[in-house]
Amino acid sequence: MTVPGNLFILSAPSGAGKSSLIKALLSQENSVATRPMQVSVSHTTRAPRPGENNGEHYHFVSVNEFKKQISKNAFYEYAEVFDNYYGTSEVAIDAQLAQGIDVFLDIDWQGAQQVRMKKPSVTTIFISPPSKQELEKRLRNRGQDSEEVIASRMAQAQAECSHYQEFDYIIVNDNFEQAVSELNAIVLNQRLKCRQQAQTHAQLFAELLSDA
Ligand code: GDP
Ligand code: ADP
Ligand code: 5GP
Repeated sequence: MTVPGNLFILSAPSGAGKSSLIKALLSQENSVATRPMQVSVSHTTRAPRPGENNGEHYHFVSVNEFKKQISKNAFYEYAEVFDNYYGTSEVAIDAQLAQGIDVFLDIDWQGAQQVRMKKPSVTTIFISPPSKQELEKRLRNRGQDSEEVIASRMAQAQAECSHYQEFDYIIVNDNFEQAVSELNAIVLNQRLKCRQQAQTHAQLFAELLSDA
């Protein structure tokens, strides 16, 4: 029997480093071994940035298509962020979890609230920048958004940060390597919980408890 995967949410103001942290976590071979990990690919109505590929970074869709999916209840959660729609496909997530894959959602606080209601066992992590000034610097250095977009994301940062106390864990992404190791620790903590280990090692415990 496959032990279902764990669901993790990372939320943060834009530019705090969610995508970079998830990428680093997933690229570490055997870091927190024993379970495959995948990031969920959201649907969005925003335009692709240079270097972003459809189906890899996002499923890029029109507003009409997105609304059609909403009416079909296709989203596990969705939200309007920075004047665009973003949503997580229900079918995709369910399939990944059922295969025993640990799934990471890079979603905003509104999406996190919706998922918490549907799945209280979700592990939620807030990624904080070390300062406002550094956040703005990172948005600028990423070099992928216009001045107007950067200003709007900075304006939204306060709203996103105001929800930090709703999360299970907080990582301050100052030193990147330290932040990755803290993320690893949270994932490992989840996997080592008694209920999960009992399922993962069901055979072992059956043998240890047998009279044979
Ligand atoms: P980023 O801040 O650089 O990651 O910029 P993005 O344009 O990739 O994401 C914009 C916002 O939408 C962020 O707050 C994301 O967390 C949020 N977001 C992305 N995908 C989803 C999703 O599937 N559902 C929800 N609710 N929010 C999402
Ligand atoms: P988000 O997905 O939260 O919007 P990104 O992962 O795209 O953020 O990171 C924003 C920018 O900040 C990127 O250019 C990334 O390389 C950089 N960055 C991320 N973490 C750090 C860090 N700890 N120190 C310095 N720069 C960082
Ligand atoms: P960006 O446009 O920079 O890729 O993402 C902007 C914000 O949208 C990020 O904070 C990201 O976490 C959020 N976001 C991306 N995908 C989703 C999603 O599927 N659902 C929700 N709720 N937020 C998302």
